[in-house]
Amino acid sequence: MNEKAFDRERIARLAQAYEPDIVRFLRDLIAIPAESGQEGPVIARIRREMEKVGFDETRVDPLGNILGRIGSGKTIVMMDSHTDTVGVGDPREWAWDPYKGKVEDGYIYGRGACDQRAGMASMVYAGKLIKELDLAGDCTIYMVGSVQEEDCDGLPWLYILKEDGIRPDCVVITEPTRLGIYRGHRGRMEIEVHLRGKSCHASAPERGDNPIYKMSRLAEEVEKLNERLPSDPFLGKGTIAVTQIRSLSPSLCAVPGSCSAHLDRRLTAGETRESAVAEVRALPGAENAEIEILDYDTPSYTGLRYPMQKYYPTWVIAESHPLARAAVATWRALWDGEPVVDKWTFSTNGVASMGLMGVPTIGFGPGEEEVAHSVAERVPIEHLVKAAMFYAAFPRMYADAIAEARRLP
Ligand SMILES: [Zn+2]
Repeated sequence: MNEKAFDRERIARLAQAYEPDIVRFLRDLIAIPAESGQEGPVIARIRREMEKVGFDETRVDPLGNILGRIGSGKTIVMMDSHTDTVGVGDPREWAWDPYKGKVEDGYIYGRGACDQRAGMASMVYAGKLIKELDLAGDCTIYMVGSVQEEDCDGLPWLYILKEDGIRPDCVVITEPTRLGIYRGHRGRMEIEVHLRGKSCHASAPERGDNPIYKMSRLAEEVEKLNERLPSDPFLGKGTIAVTQIRSLSPSLCAVPGSCSAHLDRRLTAGETRESAVAEVRALPGAENAEIEILDYDTPSYTGLRYPMQKYYPTWVIAESHPLARAAVATWRALWDGEPVVDKWTFSTNGVASMGLMGVPTIGFGPGEEEVAHSVAERVPIEHLVKAAMFYAAFPRMYADAIAEARRLP
């Protein structure tokens, strides 16, 4: 790998010099609430900053994702930060204003500080570093602010890859990794099981056929199925859980005619939509069940609907893959020591970029996964600066790595 692709001291100095701007930008983003489907104002704020720091082009696609471009070279590197956050829940649980971006002891606190406006703030300033230090090389770099991830992970990237006409060589997910290199996570899917019975007056239940009793027996089989699901040494175990049961009854004095259960399924390596449905189908009592994978069909803030099945496949990239090697090489070129190479516990837009569309994907981000969605959400300022360095240095290192991989026999 080309060790002279960049001068790490210069990148470190310049990134450090922009720390106050990165902090200010992140605090501005935290001050703009944007749950899924309400990202318009935060996208507009991101666009202003991208234009200010000198991106070559910014555009907002019909779903509402913002794509900021730098360079126009052969190797296409895309980086992603979703722009929506979860809500604040009970405001009394917060010890400070979740939308103020409190700065204390080297951290910025607030909703979205870590998940994941931090990634966006670092990406935009990486863009500035790339421009000023001329780091783009023969790359086209897109910094993407995606929408609706918290509601339907992957949906924005399914749209970008299928509809925006860009064919990237790789995608970097900037969700929190504590500055480690993450190379996958378990998948998931949302399944509903419907059982039919025969309704009747509850004063004479023997005239009907109560589907709640059938569902309760099936729920026990689901619990046993969970025990049998396979485990993977890297990703962990596949799981299944009943998370809701409801019935359709004409009254509380009637035996219902149908009963439905919602199943949360987490998929480990080797498990697919088909295998997961077949396992449920094979359970005693499910012979005549209707088994459904739910759809997501909520319009984006632009009003566009882009329906997607709630199947979010497992993805893992091998440590030996040129993308994973380039990420590790970038880390080593910037800092001393060795990066932690691991996986996320939660799910990310990687389910679409790599899981559904097969684009090599890797993760590197500021902040700690454990504080996402919590009232303790925060990000270390040091991480913001370091992540900006990584995103600035990575594209050239990656272009070199794939050139080298092509030269090898
Ligand atoms: Zn996130």
